[in-house]
Amino acid sequence: MSAVTTADGLGRLDEAAAAAGIVMERDVALSGLTTLRVGGPADRLAIAETVDQLVALLRMAAEADVPAFVLGKGSDIVVADAGMRGLVIRARADAVEIDGTELHAEAGASMAALAKRCARDGLAGFDWGISIPGSLGGAIWANAGAHGGEMADVVRTVDVFDARSGERRTLEHDACAFAYRDSRFKHGREVILGGVLQLERGEPGAIAELVDGHQQHRRATQPLADQNAGSVFRNPLGDHAGRLIEEAGLKGHRIGSARVSDLHANFIVTVRGDARGADVRALGDFVRAVVSERFGVDLRYEIEFVGAWPEEAP
Ligand SMILES: Cc1cc2nc3c(=O)[nH]c(=O)nc-3n(C[C@H](O)[C@H](O)[C@H](O)COP(=O)(O)OP(=O)(O)OC[C@H]3O[C@@H](n4cnc5c(N)ncnc54)[C@H](O)[C@@H]3O)c2cc1C
Repeated sequence: MSAVTTADGLGRLDEAAAAAGIVMERDVALSGLTTLRVGGPADRLAIAETVDQLVALLRMAAEADVPAFVLGKGSDIVVADAGMRGLVIRARADAVEIDGTELHAEAGASMAALAKRCARDGLAGFDWGISIPGSLGGAIWANAGAHGGEMADVVRTVDVFDARSGERRTLEHDACAFAYRDSRFKHGREVILGGVLQLERGEPGAIAELVDGHQQHRRATQPLADQNAGSVFRNPLGDHAGRLIEEAGLKGHRIGSARVSDLHANFIVTVRGDARGADVRALGDFVRAVVSERFGVDLRYEIEFVGAWPEEAP
């Protein structure tokens, strides 16, 4: 998209937003909306407090011919220092309803809050969700998982907005193409509006104990006090990325504002104050190169590089 087209599109978007009474902020630093705390400005930022607002904003962007990016809790992304062109929509719709053993939730619901709600209401099978600091939408997108559980185990249906056709529809579990940290949503343009999780009856006290156990384990094994975006690389088949990185002697290795965590080698942490996405990328690429040379293993990124990066991440 040329600079002229983008400016025209943003003008049309601003007019449509003003006509609809929607507040759209300009040139908002995205660093504050991500857990790694890196990233430059978004041309426009809007907050969707309801699913209808999310759909309306996506339609508006499509009509203005402006690219739209849906942001959850920003816990799996590295935003470019040059920022992101077009419209960023923060999905904050987070209504939750429990119907028997089914949990209905909107995309912006926090995974940890859902796990706590399940424990309180005696719904088993989602205790592991406490360890994912993202939104339900981001977790379905990634088929996030922890402690032996993953979204594919519990998702029954997913409500989506199809950015191509402009339609809303409901997908059954089997249509979601869940695989290890993968789903159809990583490969298309559908936006997740919410979903239904199928859980089982359980004893609240026993579920709460599992939740507490997971939290304690995470506090002991992950650098949760530091700025990070979880595991940087996917685990190669039959091995652990963290083990390879540690064996390569890279724990504590630093490039600029980014450092390989001393606690967990598959985490990159950033310094507070002035962290740069370019440093995270340079360190990640360096780690890949060293691991490839030492062990002949090509690590693949699990974190997603988004925004105006000069080149795509492997
Ligand atoms: C300390 C820490 C621990 C972590 N541990 C784990 C772990 O154990 N297991 C694991 O799997 N992950 C883990 N993660 C990574 C991350 O929390 C998950 O991948 C989470 O699911 C991302 O959700 P999010 O809302 O933050 O997504 P974001 O980072 O906001 O977005 C990630 C991607 O999802 C897309 N997306 C977000 N919402 C929607 C939507 N509604 N519709 C369509 N696309 C959408 C975005 O466009 C983007 O492409 C961890 C992260 C941290 C910081």
